[in-house]
Amino acid sequence: MAKRNDSILDDLALYPWWVNVILAVIVYLSMRYWIPTIQFQNTFYAGMAKIAPVLAPFIAGMILVAAAVSAFDSGRKGQLLKKQKGIGNYLNSIIYGAKASDNICPLCGGEMVLRTARKGPKAGEKFWGCSAFPKCRGKKPHYV
Ligand SMILES: [Zn+2]
Repeated sequence: MAKRNDSILDDLALYPWWVNVILAVIVYLSMRYWIPTIQFQNTFYAGMAKIAPVLAPFIAGMILVAAAVSAFDSGRKGQLLKKQKGIGNYLNSIIYGAKASDNICPLCGGEMVLRTARKGPKAGEKFWGCSAFPKCRGKKPHYV
């Protein structure tokens, strides 16, 4: 059996905050005005209906808290994502920028390996060829 620690509030926090605000209003109004007017046969439900108007502000308040959490979470996640992307780009520029900025394939971004031309007018000359050759035909001149 799957372990489920999620409370209703966690579930509610998954929805956009405005959904929860609308839900809170609906729950509050129905508990406050509609549920007490229902004639329940079951004594338990009848008792619940009686105290519903008292509980209404608390239940609605809890849903509003979930709305606030949801709004906060979505904002935080967006920022976190932006931050992580920024760090990723930064690390890439450190790792690849310093080491191989001149040595990545112009076509696919893969690693370049030093090769020697075997035929053609440049036979015997060294050049940088893509390590993904023959899939990728990216190459660069070798200046040294
Ligand atoms: Zn390539």
